[in-house]
Amino acid sequence: MVLALIGIALLLIILLIAVRMEITNNVGKGNEEYQTPLINASGIYSIIRKTPRESISDYKPSQEEIIKYFSNKNVNSIDLLFSEADVSALIKSWNAQMELNISEIEKGDLRGIEFYYYEYMWNDPICTKYIPKGRFVTREDIYNHPNIIPPFHLGCGCCLKQYETKEKLNDTTEMRMLPFFYNGVLPMLPDWKEINKI
Ligand SMILES: [Zn+2]
Repeated sequence: MVLALIGIALLLIILLIAVRMEITNNVGKGNEEYQTPLINASGIYSIIRKTPRESISDYKPSQEEIIKYFSNKNVNSIDLLFSEADVSALIKSWNAQMELNISEIEKGDLRGIEFYYYEYMWNDPICTKYIPKGRFVTREDIYNHPNIIPPFHLGCGCCLKQYETKEKLNDTTEMRMLPFFYNGVLPMLPDWKEINKI
């Protein structure tokens, strides 16, 4: 009888411990879930300033994809013929512009830059149809839409530049800088397969 009672008591203790562990676990999980939005809210700038270097490949074609595109005979048969040197120049420029824009954002993040504007390094009739020079975007826009980081297409001369509104407020008016986004809607962007021969 005594042994049976001790057995029941032990079983109850084990059950209590198990329930307690389960509760602690759930509270832990609850906290994790709860903490995520808190970090988002309080550390918004540290989060939006995550370099786009790793995620950009989700939005832009890779060098291999571009090479594959040019190896397609249909591409070479349309109005312009691209020599190997042309293709190699376009790919080199694509990679260089990608690096330039990403490092501009990384440098801006070190300085806490919140605004960037579009500038042209060379004549780019493809982009100027979509993006007038001087349109600005916020760092948060870039974080939310990494596809607004140039280059937008082969031979793209468009680039992002850091902008310090407080220091150059007059220039803003002179340059007629306008936001790139209206009511949060992403403007049209050129297709990467459009080619600006350089
Ligand atoms: Zn362009």
